[in-house]
Amino acid sequence: MVKMLLLAMLVLFSAQAPAETDYAALRKKMVETQIKARGIADNRVLKAMEKVERHLFVPESLRSLAYEDYPLPIGEGQTISQPYIVALMTELLELKPSDRVLEVGTGSGYQAAILAELCQKVYTIEIIPALAERAEKLLRRLNYGNITVKCGDGFAGWKEFAPFDGIIVTCAPPAVPAPLIEQLSEGGRLVIPVGEEFQQLKLIRKVKGKLVEKDLIPVRFVPMTGPGVKGK
Ligand code: SAH
Repeated sequence: MVKMLLLAMLVLFSAQAPAETDYAALRKKMVETQIKARGIADNRVLKAMEKVERHLFVPESLRSLAYEDYPLPIGEGQTISQPYIVALMTELLELKPSDRVLEVGTGSGYQAAILAELCQKVYTIEIIPALAERAEKLLRRLNYGNITVKCGDGFAGWKEFAPFDGIIVTCAPPAVPAPLIEQLSEGGRLVIPVGEEFQQLKLIRKVKGKLVEKDLIPVRFVPMTGPGVKGK
């Protein structure tokens, strides 16, 4: 009888205290199976992907899916990109620790956190106020002192802090915004999805004042919105 009672208590107790999800293990697995396996080889990028706690950047109800191989909704009709796409775009930027980077499309702030692990300073612009505010709060809580978030239209870039060694755009305009090209430093890299419903991921480099453009893979991002893209 006592034994039965003890057993029942044990079952009850273990049901009430489920094991904590081992997010670090999930991150390690994500890097191995989704990122390294697809050819991302830059060690600094792999380390950053293994370090940043992606589950903190998705809605609480979706945390258990944060390390899966697909994008997830983050509210306001927007999405956080698939981990592999984040890693690929980051690798294409070829960041040095002394670099300054502009991101257009802060969203959850996850991509900004990855960039902040790899360079000196990240400027990031988000057009939806609720997302900009939430990302700024979270990044502050995580002690990312080298990220500045602004709410506005990223089509125009951020002249005040230009030129940038890297510019990454995580929403898709129909054509490359001219201000972003202007705000790229000599030797700078711009990684951007371009097109309407389906887009091409492009890498554009400024070499001796000239642009060298490379098409990479077809991608699907949310569209760039705001006055700039409409030519207003
Ligand atoms: N990099 C983000 C993913 C963002 S999804 C992350 O890591 O979570 C793309 C984001 O671009 C959306 O939040 C959308 O609101 C924003 N966006 C769309 N048009 C924009 C514009 N003109 N300027 C700045 N942000 C824009």
